[in-house]
Formats: sequence, C-alpha cells, structure tokens
Amino acid sequence: MVREAAATSSRTDPWEVALQQFGVAAELLSLKRGIRELLSLPKRELTVNFPVQLEDGSVRVFTGYRVHHSTILGPTKGGIRYHPAVTLNEVRALAMLMTWKCAVVGLPYGGAKGGVICNPKELAAGELEHLTRRYATEISLLISPESDIPAPDVGTTPQVMAWVMDTYSMHRGFSVPAVVTGKPISIGGSQGRIEATGRGVMIVAREAARHLGMPLHGARVAVTGFGNVGSVAATLLHEHGCRIVAVTDSRGGVFNDKGLDPAELLRHKAQTGSVAGYRGADAVTNEEVVELPCEILVPSALEGEITRQNAARVKARLIVEGANGPTTLEADEILRERKVLIVPDILANAGGVIVSYFEWVQDLQSFFWTEEEINDRLERIMVRSFREVWAVGQERKVEMRTAALVKAVSRVADALMTRGIYP
Ligand code: NAD
Repeated sequence: MVREAAATSSRTDPWEVALQQFGVAAELLSLKRGIRELLSLPKRELTVNFPVQLEDGSVRVFTGYRVHHSTILGPTKGGIRYHPAVTLNEVRALAMLMTWKCAVVGLPYGGAKGGVICNPKELAAGELEHLTRRYATEISLLISPESDIPAPDVGTTPQVMAWVMDTYSMHRGFSVPAVVTGKPISIGGSQGRIEATGRGVMIVAREAARHLGMPLHGARVAVTGFGNVGSVAATLLHEHGCRIVAVTDSRGGVFNDKGLDPAELLRHKAQTGSVAGYRGADAVTNEEVVELPCEILVPSALEGEITRQNAARVKARLIVEGANGPTTLEADEILRERKVLIVPDILANAGGVIVSYFEWVQDLQSFFWTEEEINDRLERIMVRSFREVWAVGQERKVEMRTAALVKAVSRVADALMTRGIYP
C-alpha cells in the first residue's frame, strides 16, 4: 500500500518523498501510531529573516532555516545549504534523512539541516562572510557542541564553517571548535574529512561488488558529478583496478571505454574549471552517462538523476549513491524489478558524517588522530554498516534502501521506547 503510493508520487516535494520512504519502513516495523507520528514530524523548526549590508551599501533581507528532526539518539547533526532553491520542506526532508543516516551507521546523533535562500556565487567574499556570521548568530539559539553541530553542504565550504565557529566562539568568549565540523585543519578540522564521503562510496562499492561476485579489477565505472564526492570515489576505485569510463560535471562530460585517469582529469579540471574538453576522450552528457554500458554507476551530482524516463536503460548492475536522492521513487521500482543492486544514499554517502563525528570527538578531547587512524576507523564502520544492512535485507527479503531505512528507524524507535515518554 505504502509502496504503491510511493511509486506513483511525484518527486517534486522532497518532504513528501522522505515521509513516504519513512512510511515504508514504519509499515514493515509495525510501528505504533504515536511513535510513527512523532518520527514523521520535525522536533523543532526555526525560520530566521535577517538583514545583510551588501558592498554597494544597500541592505538585503535573507531567509534561513534550521530544523531538528530528532534528538532521540543524541545532539543533532546536519549540514547548512546555501542555494537559491532552498525551501523549508527541503530542509525538513534533509533533516529527517540525517536522522536515518546517523542511525544506520550507529552514530550517537539525531538529524538536523539548515539552509539560507541565496546564491553564494553572486555574493562577494565579504558579503558571504557577513551573511554567514549573521545567520550563525540567528541560529545560535539552537547550535552548540552539546545540542546541534552543523557541517558544510551544497554551497557552503570549510571557510564558511570557520566563520560559523568564529562567530559562535566570539559570543561565548572562548574558542569552541566542536560547534561545527568540516572546518579547515588549522582550526580543529579532521584529517581525511575532505575525502571521507568518496572513500566511503569506494568501500561500499567494493563490498557490494563482492556480494555480486563481480571483480572490481577491470569493472567499468561511470561517475556523474566529478566534484568532491565523485572525484574521490573515482580516484579510489581507479586505485582498486576499476576502469573509469566516464565522468561529468555541470559543464559537460567525457567518455573513453579504455579508461580515464582521475588524477589527469583533476589536473584538467583545475586548469579549465571542468572535465569537459579533456583530450583523448569523447564528449558525453550527464544523461548519456546514466545509460552507458558499465558495471558500476556512481551518481554523485544532483537529486533525481535516475528517473522513470531512463531507469529502464541503465546498464550498470550496481548503483552506489554518492549524491543524496539521485534515484526517484519511480526509478527505484523499475531498477528493483530489473535486479539492479542499489546501495542507498543514507548508507553509501555516510562517510562524510562519520568523519565529521570523528572531528567532533577530536575537538571535544583536544586530541587529534592521524589520517591512517581516521581511514581505518571509517573503513570499519562502513564495512560493518554495509554488512548489517545486507543482513536485514536478506532476513526481510527487501532491497537495500528499505533495509537501511528499517535498520535506522528501528534503532531510533528502540531508543525512544527505552528512554520513555517524558514526563
Ligand atoms: P560538489 O559541489 O563538490 O560536486 C558536485 C559536482 O556535480 C560538481 O562537479 C558539479 O559540477 C556537478 N554537477 C552539478 N550539476 C550537474 C549536472 N547537471 N550534471 C553533471 N554534473 C553536475 O558537491 P559534493 O560535496 O561532491 O556533493 C555532491 C552530492 O553528494 C550532493 O548530493 C551532496 O548532498 C552529496 N553528499 C556530499 C557529501 C560530502 O561530504 N561532500 C556527503 C554526503 C552527501
């Protein structure tokens, strides 16, 4: 019933999609009505309208949000997005997904998300700093190392996190590095954080390929979105012997069936701003890459890349979701019927929040780990989480997305029942 509703809905409202996905897990777990209702609502939402003085002397008012979905497992964790299309429903949906993502890999966090409706590319560096410091001040009602720890998301950077940390610290009167993660290393950031999400993608791709009996060596890999996540995933899969046959970014893409060298592509991108035009490869669009002959597809750009329109033409046997929400609900159904294995976003791209957790722990104890220690611990958590989700899938005879949600939702619901209902 819930699955049918999910299959026919449009993907335009991310909050509707998040609720439908939660509904599938809630049905399978036979969650009691009250618990189901509680988990399907954000715990608290803050909307802030605030002024920023621009460089031409004018004042512009921006709208921002911070949403806490759940605090059952611990303080909330989630990124801050700067994008013109930010909406409260998108922030709500991403906050709920963060609850499940943290729960599925066993982190002691609830989910949160923040966003400001703005185009950071149109703001001067000074304007971006003022916007960030004012937004951080406005949401300081909610954030702290004990209650809510933001991180970068689309449109925000380690520098933006540095401004949030500095603003919060100025108000407190002393440095509080643990209030945000994804900071530059010089002010309490962690080794391995920048590569963490792509590294996690590589680890689960390797585990999934093993289950499919597919050798990684020589496997053809197509990557959409050669940004932070996609480029690291491509580089590490290349190191494991995969043949990277195609990559794209917002300005175009390249294809070569003999394989591409990610290090050379990164050099080309650093020089020209895009992978497009790389010599020794044919031009290809993002839409074409989704349908290319390959064994592994790693969507790492945007939401809704694999849709009802193209899912039947996907050739890959394995999809590892580097991006958040790259597969629509309708495409999910088609791929399920076609027996394409999908490692879902809440598991596949959890490497970022796992190393953010390490960053927070290191900041709280003021004792820092080596990159080797970080990568070892990340590897252990990703492998363990993959195996646990796989086992749930086998036991309940459901695909990995539902299995991951079932595992996450049951962990949060169990914690809620153990804590009890206050007062
Ligand atoms: P990024 O900005 O570094 O990279 C995104 C890439 O996608 C860029 O290369 C951009 O050019 C490309 N892109 C944009 N529009 C495109 C289009 N239409 N066709 C093809 N390519 C396009 O961002 P990122 O940090 O790598 O994040 C990518 C995805 O991964 C997002 O969905 C994000 O939410 C998700 N994610 C990121 C992290 C992280 O730690 N960075 C963690 C979890 C999830």
